Amino acid sequence: MKKFLWAFALLMLAAVLGACNSSSDKEEQKDKPVKEETPAEDTTDATEDKKTGGEVNVYTARHYDVDAVLYEEFTEKTGIKVNVIEAKAPELIERLKREGQNTPADLFITVDGGILNTAKEEGLLQPIESEEIDKAVPAELRDTDNEWIGLSTRARVIVYSKDRVKPEELSTYEDLATDKWKDKLLVRSSDSLYNQSLMASLIAIDGEDKAKEWAQGIVNNLAREPEGGDRDQARAIVAGVGDVAIMNSYYVGHMSVSDEAEDVKVFDQIGVFFPNQETTGTHINISGAGLIKHSKNKENAVKLIEYLTTVEAQEQFTAENFEFPVNKEAKLPEVMAEWGTFKPQEVDFADYGKYNPKAVELMNEVGWK
Ligand code: FE
Repeated sequence: MKKFLWAFALLMLAAVLGACNSSSDKEEQKDKPVKEETPAEDTTDATEDKKTGGEVNVYTARHYDVDAVLYEEFTEKTGIKVNVIEAKAPELIERLKREGQNTPADLFITVDGGILNTAKEEGLLQPIESEEIDKAVPAELRDTDNEWIGLSTRARVIVYSKDRVKPEELSTYEDLATDKWKDKLLVRSSDSLYNQSLMASLIAIDGEDKAKEWAQGIVNNLAREPEGGDRDQARAIVAGVGDVAIMNSYYVGHMSVSDEAEDVKVFDQIGVFFPNQETTGTHINISGAGLIKHSKNKENAVKLIEYLTTVEAQEQFTAENFEFPVNKEAKLPEVMAEWGTFKPQEVDFADYGKYNPKAVELMNEVGWK
């Protein structure tokens, strides 16, 4: 049995590495090496577990260092061991479906409201009951049935050259698709879920025709063919390739404290603008944790979510990964406090999943590479 588990773990590792190598998202790979640990199904650990408070098995698609730090702190506080399996979200969903009630997983953690909702619709999750969580996380950042709980959010903002663009010239995502920005706009490929969810949100708000027109305008205005990750768009602004870019807010925070001197220089020369403040709001997306329907360590799983939504853990999420906290009591790091507050889009996160196929189709139709 043990032999079989090892073989399975190695096979999964190979599958995960293979998938990552074929991925265009090199930036995300750079953020964190893929980790694979087999959750301790081994019964020889059982006595140890009782002594230490047991365990919780997490399947996660998040690729940020701060997560591991928080899991360690949770273990220190509670004695509950956190076993982590990290892979891309669609692979984890397939795996959960395949494993069914035999799954060792207790929690599914990922970025993107659409994917969280897909896990729910696949029947992989169950409602989470915890007054603490209900108090810590506003209802709009939780699933309607509490099958998943938001852990952090991020905004897809406009970043601009402080030398060449005045913030007064900026207004909306729609404005970026007008002739005003011809040959000046930078954005990564439509393969990115970040862009797919932005497009899906515009379909939800404006309808397919208008969203397609918008995507066409974006493609018409590109300063170069889409390449690289979000940070590469900011770097290209400073290199003079273009003047404005669409990127996730937390990457700007990362650049402000980067070990790479070049990235800190880039940070100094760009500004952050929250679009659509007078209209439909800035696009946000959410990271969240869903409780697995067949969880064997349900109590520990709920405890881990309770911990991750405390002010203390939330301040770490935001201080180290520059994501917005879901717990409004949590303080922001200086760089984010300077951005100020903003109005987010009022879109059901489930729509990101619902309109994803249409978003991909329309982006392909207009030639968004
Ligand atoms: Fe990212």
